[in-house]
Amino acid sequence: MKTITHWIGGKPVEGTSDRYGPVYNPATGEQEKQVAFASVEDVDAAVAAASQAYESWSQVSLAKRTGILFKYRELLDARRDEIAELITAEHGKVHSDALGEVARGMEIVELACGIAEKLKGELSTQVSGGVDVSSIRQPLGVVAGITPFNFPAMVPMWMFPLAIACGNTFVLKPSEKDPSTSFRLVELASEAGLPDGVLNIVQGDKVAVDRILEHPDVVAVSFVGSTPIARYIQARAIEHGKRVQALGGAKNHMLVLPDADLDYAADQAINAAYGSAGERCMAVSVVVAVGDTGDALVGKIAERAKNLVIGPGNDPASEMGPLITGEHRDKVASYVTGAAAQGAEVVVDGTGLTVEGHENGFFVGVSLLDKVPVTADAYKDEIFGPVLCVVRAETYDEAIKLINSSRWGNGTAIFTRDGGAARRFQLEVQAGMVGVNVPIPVPVGYHSFGGWKESLFGDHHIYGNDGIHFYTRGKVVTTRWPDPSPTSGGETPTEGGINLGFPSHN
Ligand code: NAD
Repeated sequence: MKTITHWIGGKPVEGTSDRYGPVYNPATGEQEKQVAFASVEDVDAAVAAASQAYESWSQVSLAKRTGILFKYRELLDARRDEIAELITAEHGKVHSDALGEVARGMEIVELACGIAEKLKGELSTQVSGGVDVSSIRQPLGVVAGITPFNFPAMVPMWMFPLAIACGNTFVLKPSEKDPSTSFRLVELASEAGLPDGVLNIVQGDKVAVDRILEHPDVVAVSFVGSTPIARYIQARAIEHGKRVQALGGAKNHMLVLPDADLDYAADQAINAAYGSAGERCMAVSVVVAVGDTGDALVGKIAERAKNLVIGPGNDPASEMGPLITGEHRDKVASYVTGAAAQGAEVVVDGTGLTVEGHENGFFVGVSLLDKVPVTADAYKDEIFGPVLCVVRAETYDEAIKLINSSRWGNGTAIFTRDGGAARRFQLEVQAGMVGVNVPIPVPVGYHSFGGWKESLFGDHHIYGNDGIHFYTRGKVVTTRWPDPSPTSGGETPTEGGINLGFPSHN
């Protein structure tokens, strides 16, 4: 059986532990590979390689760094299909969706190609007689990224291209469920000319994560994953004196006003709720139907939901693939079966689905739950599967109150033709990313991505300017050259003498 290894110091490394995790093909339910689980010593080896590489990489010119990133972007572009196939083989999402993920990840590589512009400092001349002040930003050192299963290419690419472009070196701990994609991404970076040790991978579980969090030479940690682990990562990283950004889970609400185009809203609800089998942190999982829109909207969503083609991700006819594991599939199904007992109407029940020829695959059909009480588990929890809840609200005010009482605040959207209502929503809603007639408002690479409340622990959103800020630290330099002043004929120093007063710039 193929073993996916670590990548340390520019090459594959078997590691020292005898612990391995299974890697499944979710469409068949078969274990096709195994992944090495790092020991503490393996993490230490990766951090040592990154520390050593930092000494030279942080000194490499912006021109050379940019050259490598451009080359990397070319290699990724040429291998989009190959990377998407790796994603589908281990995650299960359909090929077109996997290609979309690769493209969104490449946006950050493209942003990193412009790092020279982004790292320009500021200079104020003559703040006092003969005194200049400049502000610069410098890399941090060895930084680490810990990433989830649902975007095995895009989320690592939210992190390492900017981190290394800023002059840091990087240790990635990808999800153990679909580790091949990031391994390939790192191999390609090496092929693009990235020096050994700049970008490393340790595979594994909590053992690897905890060692990263404790390691004295890791100065910053970016995390993306579920809320309980994000909260844990932030607390442990702070305890160990590290800079940290930890993005968590979500329950994204889509508000539909009575004046919205209901066919358009139903299409978008389907795409955003069931795309990638609902395993997206920006999936729409709740539609809030305002006024009398509910019945018509639910009818239109149900009609579309019943026609979706579910099958293996490598079949071009499939619109939705399987879930990541059998265990997760059963958990998702339990929310649907439990919802009726908790007061919801099950309009479409996808729990009984089997896909012919793929009976052991981790498939579940799409489900639509209407009039879901806010006390039901299906409303309260992040299900992370193809289950869409509809909640009814009498008015806009009732709807926004509901959305703002959620413990999460990742993405949200309003569907309306009323510009005034959309403007109110933008200003009043408590979420980090807002769509107006756009259901999955994932910001482009040159803006930043991040939620509010339990969707993000830390001060920085990820990528964009926030990403560059996160991966650098500021330094302010105040300069005076007390040479003989040319204006005084080169004989008298500009300043001098004893003065114990606090310096002021007059
Ligand atoms: P997860 O939290 O289970 O795992 C994320 C990472 O943490 C993995 O690398 C995993 O190995 C590690 N990990 C898991 N348990 C750990 C533990 N006890 N101690 C230390 N490390 C641990 O998340 P997942 O199931 O891989 O991904 C799905 C979750 O990620 C969903 O909640 C989803 O909303 C969230 N997500 C959020 C965003 C965002 O941008 N906010 C993006 C993608 C996914």
